[in-house]
Formats: sequence, C-alpha cells, structure tokens
Amino acid sequence: MSDTLHAITNRRSTRAIRVGRVAIGGSAPIAVQSMTNTDTRDVEATVHQIEALLTAGCEVIRLAVPDMESARALHGIRERTYAPLIADIHFNHVLALEALRAGVDGLRLNPGNIGGAARVKEVVEAASERGVPIRIGVNGGSLEKDLLARYGGRPSAEAMVESALRHVAILESVGFRDIKISLKATDVPTTVAAYRLLAPKVDYPFHIGITEAGTRFGGSIKSAVGLGILLAEGIGDTIRVSLTDDPVEEVRAAFEILKALNLRRHGPTLIACPTCGRDELDVISLAKEVEAAIGGVKAPIKIAVMGCVVNGPGEAEQADLGVAGGGRGVSMLYRKGKMIRRVTDRSQLLAAIIEEVKKMSDEHEIVA
Ligand code: SF4
Repeated sequence: MSDTLHAITNRRSTRAIRVGRVAIGGSAPIAVQSMTNTDTRDVEATVHQIEALLTAGCEVIRLAVPDMESARALHGIRERTYAPLIADIHFNHVLALEALRAGVDGLRLNPGNIGGAARVKEVVEAASERGVPIRIGVNGGSLEKDLLARYGGRPSAEAMVESALRHVAILESVGFRDIKISLKATDVPTTVAAYRLLAPKVDYPFHIGITEAGTRFGGSIKSAVGLGILLAEGIGDTIRVSLTDDPVEEVRAAFEILKALNLRRHGPTLIACPTCGRDELDVISLAKEVEAAIGGVKAPIKIAVMGCVVNGPGEAEQADLGVAGGGRGVSMLYRKGKMIRRVTDRSQLLAAIIEEVKKMSDEHEIVA
C-alpha cells in the first residue's frame, strides 16, 4: 500500500522444502515460527494457544514432545487444527514415530542423538512416506562432548557447524535430504559466525534464531541484532524470536524484524518521532494509543505520528496515513500525501486516526 520497497535481494540460494502447507527455502517468503509453551498433554490449552499464534500471523508452530503422553496428545491436537506443526523431540525415536503417526508436518530431531543407525532408518522411512522434513537443531548448550573438548571447551561456531554436518551426514547416508538446519547460540557473534560458516557448505534452508534470548525487551533487541545481520546477508529461511514471554510476542517481534528489512509485509507499521521540546501532540501517549488500537489490523498500512511541523508533514505525507502537530492545538491528518483533515480538539485525534485506519483497512480487504 505504500511506497516502493527496497529489500535485501542477495538471498542465499537453497533447496525448497515444505512444512505442511508452508514452503520454506527456495524463493518462498521467510516464514515466521514460534513454539507453544503449554503442556502438550493439555490438548485444550495447546489448541487455544495455537489459535492465538495463528491469529498473530504465525506460520509454523513447534510443540515440545517430551514423553509418550505428549506424543499421543498430538493426535487430538492434529484433529483440531490445520496449522503446520513441528514435533520437537530429543533422544527418543519412538516419540518421533508416534508424532508422525499423529500427522505432524515436521520433526525437529538430531539424528545423532536417537540411538543408532537402525532407529534413524526407521524414523527417516516414516518421515519420507509422509513427506515430512526434519530440522537438525544444533544448540550451543548441548554440543557433543568430543567437539567441545576439541574446540576449547566452548560452544564455538566451528564446533556447532561440525556438529550440524555430522547430523546431516547421518541423514544423507540414508538418502534423506528433506532437511533444514538451525545453529543457535545465546551469543549473537557466535550464532552469526556459525551460520556464515555453514552457508557455503550446504544447500539446505536455515531456520535462524538466537536461543534463550531473554525477556521481551532485551530478547527482542538481541534477536533483532542477530537475525538482522543474517537476514541482511541473505541468510535465513524461517525465523523464531525466542522470548521468555507469551509466544504471541515472539511472532510480533519476528514480523517487526522482517518488516524493518522490507522482507515481509504484515499488518500496519507505525512510525513515530522520538519527541522533543517542539512536540505539540504528546506523541508518546498518542503513539502508544495508536499502537494498541491497530493491534488487530491486517492491512499493511504505514502510519506516521509526528509531533510538529519540522519533520512532521514531510514524514506524514510519505506514509499511508500521517498525523502531524501543527501548532495552536491543531493537528493535520494526511492520507497518501494529501492533507485530508484538520483536528482542532486533541481529545478527538485518536478517534479520527482510528476512523481513517478503519476506512483504509476496509478498502484493502476489498482490493485483496
Ligand atoms: S517531529 Fe517535531 S516534535 Fe517530533 S522529534 Fe521532530 S522536531 Fe521534535
């Protein structure tokens, strides 16, 4: 709906895989993932959270499968949602087989950790029959002891890459190539170095993230820095922002990162000035009110909230919808560069903005 977008164009070329209805890698858009934090055995609570994640725009949803009761619960969850689901499994191949029987769309499992070649073959055959891909998820906190010892006792980028390549070799040895890979460390430079190192060695799509990034504020910043570097280099086919919070916040943060690089369009984008002594509108409270009011809007509308006439009209004119403080209590509303309204009563300004957003949103739905 807004201006021509400049996006990152040198995306790493990868083979394409599918997680259910979502294409990953190749020329597919970068997909947003999250993970439920309900007890997977609680089908009701898990389905409820899956629905909340889908409403927020989440495209692939991972669930922890720590035991057989959780694996069996996947049958009930599958019956109640079409969401692309990935079962997260460690060590126990029987859980992977049960998750596949339940109809999950992807497995996150490291083949080197499930107890030998026969078990790998069994899981790979069951996954292949169903067209289900496997994500190899290397985590800096759980590297093999021999690799840690060889690389100085720390989860270095080199050790993570070597671990990933071992798991890849196991799957390739049984002819399985429906793979994606993640290399997550809690440290941004290590994570970035690991993905950079692996990128030229394989053509599998990458799931990228900074693991255990932290709380909403710190974790979002850390993830934005790490994922921003990788995405700007064309690395990354699916992303997760790991936050110690409601997973819906992970989805919101992921889209903000992708939108900041013009890699995806999703819902409104709010531009707001940082305020200074010229602010005529109380931009801080207005921007927060606008942000809260547009939470459920799906249309990719760019909205600018600017405090005064210095930068205000210029920025407001470039947005789909802009407001700028104009002095003496008057505010101007711009739509696609044209001034459409003067609001003389500050208390009516939020209502006027919401009214215009609703009109634009309705028009977008008609066009879409
Ligand atoms: S738009 Fe005006 S109020 Fe906002 S930061 Fe710039 S000069 Fe200050």
